[in-house]
Amino acid sequence: MDKFDRGPDGRSTDVASGRGAPTWMASSLKFCSRCGSPLRFGLVEGEDRERLSCEACGHIAYVNPRLVVTVLPITDAGEIILIRRGIEPGLGWWAQPGGFLEVDETVNQAAIRETLEETGLLVEPGELVGIYTRLEAAVVTLAFEARIVGGTAAPTPEAIEVAAFAPERIPWSGIAFSTTTWALRDWLDRRRPDLDWPDGHAGG
Ligand SMILES: [Zn+2]
Repeated sequence: MDKFDRGPDGRSTDVASGRGAPTWMASSLKFCSRCGSPLRFGLVEGEDRERLSCEACGHIAYVNPRLVVTVLPITDAGEIILIRRGIEPGLGWWAQPGGFLEVDETVNQAAIRETLEETGLLVEPGELVGIYTRLEAAVVTLAFEARIVGGTAAPTPEAIEVAAFAPERIPWSGIAFSTTTWALRDWLDRRRPDLDWPDGHAGG
């Protein structure tokens, strides 16, 4: 059992805490970036949890999640813009526009940039809809509501299709990611509490 409450941001993950990076990520963290010796996962003096460290030079390899910034663009009619993904992961499935935050930009800039790149629409990010931790992917996903202020919706290399859905017509069975499902539900809970959303979803 975890010592600390996971909170609502952890509802889309069931990976245990305290074991470090997920396996797929650990496979690229085998050697010390300072001296090239093997890294070992275990207790390190002065640290309050097990970590990857180098026995040769004492370097500790701290591993932190990446931030994914996503957007629910809302039309003047109250419809939600979703894209049918043109790339993996989630190829052919519906998701909100978004992507990894670059190290030299703000969250707001990333929200605008990713939405423009994937949908052709210029948005003004507004309220934060939710924060979702996915331990298995080593990411934290933010979802913003956004007003559309310009541009023209059109397919892009990353989006086979860009479509506006009335809240009653969200394609729940074709959603790409659990974080998309959660963001849509959190948005509906806030903006359209009169509507019910279905329980199941097919995405990962
Ligand atoms: Zn080293």
